[in-house]
Amino acid sequence: MSERFDAIVVGTGQAAPALCARLDSEGLKTALIERKLLGGTCVNVGCIPTKTLVASAHAVHMARRGAEYGFSVGKIEVDMHAVKGRKDSVVKQSSDGLADWIGGMKNVTLVRGHARFTRPAEISVDGRVLRGDRIFVNVGGRALVPDLPGIKDVPFLTNTTMMEVDSVPEQLLIVGGSYIGLEFAHMYRRFGSKVTVVEKAPKLLAREDDDVAAEIRAVLEREGIEIRTSAECMALKRKGGRIAIEMECQDGAPIAEGTHLLMAVGRRPNTDDLGLQNTKIQMDERGYIKVDDECRTTQEGVWALGDCNGRGAFTHTSYNDYEIVAANLFDGERRRISDRIQAYALFIDPPLGRAGMSEAEARKTGKKVLLGKMLMTRVGRAREAGETQGFMKVLVDADSQELLGAALLGLNGDEIVHSLLDMMYAKQPYTTIQRAVHIHPTVTELIPTLLGNLKPLS
Ligand SMILES: Cc1cc2nc3c(=O)[nH]c(=O)nc-3n(C[C@H](O)[C@H](O)[C@H](O)COP(=O)(O)OP(=O)(O)OC[C@H]3O[C@@H](n4cnc5c(N)ncnc54)[C@H](O)[C@@H]3O)c2cc1C
Repeated sequence: MSERFDAIVVGTGQAAPALCARLDSEGLKTALIERKLLGGTCVNVGCIPTKTLVASAHAVHMARRGAEYGFSVGKIEVDMHAVKGRKDSVVKQSSDGLADWIGGMKNVTLVRGHARFTRPAEISVDGRVLRGDRIFVNVGGRALVPDLPGIKDVPFLTNTTMMEVDSVPEQLLIVGGSYIGLEFAHMYRRFGSKVTVVEKAPKLLAREDDDVAAEIRAVLEREGIEIRTSAECMALKRKGGRIAIEMECQDGAPIAEGTHLLMAVGRRPNTDDLGLQNTKIQMDERGYIKVDDECRTTQEGVWALGDCNGRGAFTHTSYNDYEIVAANLFDGERRRISDRIQAYALFIDPPLGRAGMSEAEARKTGKKVLLGKMLMTRVGRAREAGETQGFMKVLVDADSQELLGAALLGLNGDEIVHSLLDMMYAKQPYTTIQRAVHIHPTVTELIPTLLGNLKPLS
């Protein structure tokens, strides 16, 4: 016997709770299925815990810099057990809040277990069969573990198991020099680990411009993080009680050794065990569910939201997928994924705030592009704070005068970038912000100056 629902939501990622709230308010009988922790990656093993750990690492770092600011605090010791405890309590606040929210939805039934499509509109959860008129898939992704030689012979951590670490690793090896790997690298260096990042590409952060990637590398190296790039033929080995990464094909020492290993080479969608072969839902070659501009899959009555549709890899993009689906289904509004402007941050310190195109992407458009760049050493507020690393860079379309993109690597760059992002959404010319009077002394007050010194791309 199957149970009938108006809607079934699979996974409690970053789109699902808000979508369930909307389905609930529409009076639709809804089943929400979760196989593990409410709140998915962001709440439990992604954004919230990592940014909580970043905050602890920043506090430790500032305490160590006490003499620069005119104070001393004696010997600084990191109690990783307490750091983890703080992280756990912040995560708990969010997951408890979420549980209360979902628990308060009258028309929503939370079903615990692993969901699998058995037919196009039918899902089984540990023997229970649910049928839904509309099905929304928000199953997210998990750490990709590459099939490196020796991977089966060494213990390794992922972003998920890193959340259980409650002592400071003596020497942390990180395979992967992208967003997740670098955030862990920076925080653990500040907690006191020796850290080596091993990246197979010739530079960190392949999608960022060369100047951005190079400055980020310099920021990390200034704090003693060892970075190895172009490490194309890695192999993993046990060496005594330690773990070794062999990299015979690159310059520099052919081996890096550590006590712990974090694999941070990317993510894969949770679509391999979803029974999609029993439906008409198509995936791309990497397992992401194909969707149209409104998150509809190739199976009528099924939508895919969040990381699993491959159209975004962030909490804000997943949440925006919910907004798009809800607007199109219930509000008679046409909202589309392609209206979204790419934006994200890298939460090292100082952070990188990104909006729109990189310089490399802007060059490829063939448009006449203007570039403005300013070192953070020129920003009064950054000097006052003693945080002068990095630079701000903006790109403008010379003909339309609209902003094309920005990379703000510097004090509060993750926040300040929104002043440019909002201007991009408003489709206003850069002169609007250039003529705005900003508060002194802030980093943002230099954005008009930056925009007043644009030069054609050479
Ligand atoms: C270390 C780390 C740091 C990050 N930091 C940031 C950040 O600072 N900012 C940012 O915007 N993004 C960040 N992200 C990315 C962000 O976490 C994700 O983009 C976000 O969680 C969106 O995911 P989602 O909504 O697609 O689903 P998820 O949050 O991944 O949740 C999917 C849920 O579906 C469940 N599920 C999967 N399969 C099934 C099934 N078959 N049956 C039942 N349930 C199932 C899972 O258990 C999970 O609870 C980070 C990610 C990581 C790993």
